[in-house]
Amino acid sequence: MADIKSGRLDEARLQQRFAEVYEPLDRHEAHVESDRCYFCYDAPCVTACPTSIDIPLFIREISVGNANGAAKTILDANIMGGMCARVCPTETLCEEVCVREVAEGKPVKIGELQRFATDNLMATTDAHPFTRAAETGKRVAVIGAGPAGLSCAHRLAMHGHDVTIFEALPKPGGLNEFGIAAYKAMDDFAQAEVDFILGIGGIDIEYGKALGNGVSLDTLTADYDATFIGMGLPGTNELGLDGEDADGCIDAVDYIAQLRQSDDLSKLPVGRNVVVIGGGMTAIDIAAQTKLLGAENVTIFYRRGMENMNASQYEQDHAQKHGVTIRQWLQPKALHVTDGAVSGMTFEYTSGTNGSLRGTGETVSVEADQVFKAIGQTPASDLLAAAGITLERGRIAVDANRKTSHVKIWAGGDCVAGGEDLTVVSVEDGKLAAEDIHKMLSA
Ligand SMILES: Cc1cc2nc3c(=O)[nH]c(=O)nc-3n(C[C@H](O)[C@H](O)[C@H](O)COP(=O)(O)OP(=O)(O)OC[C@H]3O[C@@H](n4cnc5c(N)ncnc54)[C@H](O)[C@@H]3O)c2cc1C
Ligand code: SF4
Repeated sequence: MADIKSGRLDEARLQQRFAEVYEPLDRHEAHVESDRCYFCYDAPCVTACPTSIDIPLFIREISVGNANGAAKTILDANIMGGMCARVCPTETLCEEVCVREVAEGKPVKIGELQRFATDNLMATTDAHPFTRAAETGKRVAVIGAGPAGLSCAHRLAMHGHDVTIFEALPKPGGLNEFGIAAYKAMDDFAQAEVDFILGIGGIDIEYGKALGNGVSLDTLTADYDATFIGMGLPGTNELGLDGEDADGCIDAVDYIAQLRQSDDLSKLPVGRNVVVIGGGMTAIDIAAQTKLLGAENVTIFYRRGMENMNASQYEQDHAQKHGVTIRQWLQPKALHVTDGAVSGMTFEYTSGTNGSLRGTGETVSVEADQVFKAIGQTPASDLLAAAGITLERGRIAVDANRKTSHVKIWAGGDCVAGGEDLTVVSVEDGKLAAEDIHKMLSA
């Protein structure tokens, strides 16, 4: 009988466990940390930031007590600087190349300083830090109110254009709202940030309006001066094993969305023995969060070696610190189902080099009350191909300005080819597309 139940820990304890993961810097700590920066000329941290934030400048602004000036510097390059401060894998971006990391293995805490500055601005002023240019009378349609769509909309609104966002769901934010681990964005931060972004004016969101379901690219390109697609990756991969529809075999992204929308975490059912399949951020997040929810044993199974995982070393360490076990070189072979519910799994050992992977024939079986599939999301390729846009491996092909093969359509974020499936990259895509659309509309 599968041991899945809610209330393994009470609500107060769960709130505390989730909140404790990332404590923000206070004013004094931020000041001390800012003094560690060398304010490098040609700073490598800036080059490593996908949105090219002027990091030494904002850290200097913090060091002289101008936290709101620092926030403005950050938001100028990245309007989601608050969320990115919480979710960016800084250990593989700006902090990895910080000269203090290179010299002494202890980078300046750029992400935490960024959070200090942007939180300070949002807490101390209601006024939006940017003003709109005079209205141009041009109208742009944006599909999806995730990081890419919102970033594009904000920059277009700043240039004086009117933006309508068509969003399939009843709530904005995309994966910032429904995907990012709850402990990274506490206190409804995703919605607060959306409200902040919309504060510029000139942006309308139409909820429950989906491309492919009442909204078509033909209509949008006829009715609007330009269109931006930021619809993310709406599908998920399957294991392809018998029994995948059994109770307890769950898509990790769906469960995380449920977790993110829950107002009482103690009501979420969680297994005693949890198995997670995958090697990326989603696998790490579902594993760490089910452990925080009170699961006894949580094990990630990954088909290659740790060094091949999409999740960084920092994220792997983070999961392990929370009591998650990571087992490598094991691929799913069979799901065990008892009375309609998952009861265990069999994995086959693998070996391989240079991208090739083969099963060795040797297997191992484990008990499981819940099996989470975290093996990747998929694009809406059929929908996009039917609209006549050129795709690359199912995702939208774009040029350096995020323009698609269609003369009036731009795209960015997870739905485009060649990206890195990170919030910060999506924000940059939206910004670059908006600048190119603005250039076209101003010609
Ligand atoms: C579980 C999980 C954890 C993650 N953790 C991190 C992290 O810690 N750090 C990090 O940098 N990145 C993380 N990512 C990746 C990051 O969330 C994405 O790269 C980013 O959200 C992509 O932004 P986007 O705007 O392209 O898409 P999304 O955030 O997916 O937003 C797309 C929007 O389009 C809407 N939409 C979809 N289809 C339609 C349609 N047909 N019509 C209209 N609207 C539509 C969706 O409802 C959604 O609002 C994580 C991803 C997942 C799944
Ligand atoms: S590389 Fe490090 S020390 Fe140099 S400017 Fe960037 S944060 Fe400061």
